[in-house]
Amino acid sequence: MHCPFCAATDTKVIDSRLVADGHQVRRRRECLTCHERYTTFETAELVMPRVIKSDGARQPFDEEKLRRGIQRALEKRPVGAEQVEQAITKIKSALRATGEREVSSQLVGNLVMEQLLPLDKVAYVRFASVYRAFDDLAQFGEEIASLEKR
Ligand SMILES: [Zn+2]
Repeated sequence: MHCPFCAATDTKVIDSRLVADGHQVRRRRECLTCHERYTTFETAELVMPRVIKSDGARQPFDEEKLRRGIQRALEKRPVGAEQVEQAITKIKSALRATGEREVSSQLVGNLVMEQLLPLDKVAYVRFASVYRAFDDLAQFGEEIASLEKR
């Protein structure tokens, strides 16, 4: 890339290291013209499967939407931002690992629940109640009861 300070085309990498559990490369670069130093981050751009909604509509995978859903379920719960990001990373890896070009929104929801369960049971039940759109309280009660048995 061009130097962000003087736009010269020649820069050299002076340091390179793996960060974010090896999912990212951090590089220190120095401009050969003005000698300013700056940092770049490199991550793989991996194709996520598209999501098939229950009405059959296809949507591109939306990480922000996933994050918002998880955060809503975790509102006022003692779970840190770092744990949320780890959960999102695991969900994305699981989706890629299916090797499918399209996955059902139900599968995405199940993966979210799998991640929420060990993190926070209240958040799990909150998410499950929205996601499964419980139409009666009995069903909701069953969900809580099955949690208590574990
Ligand atoms: Zn420069």
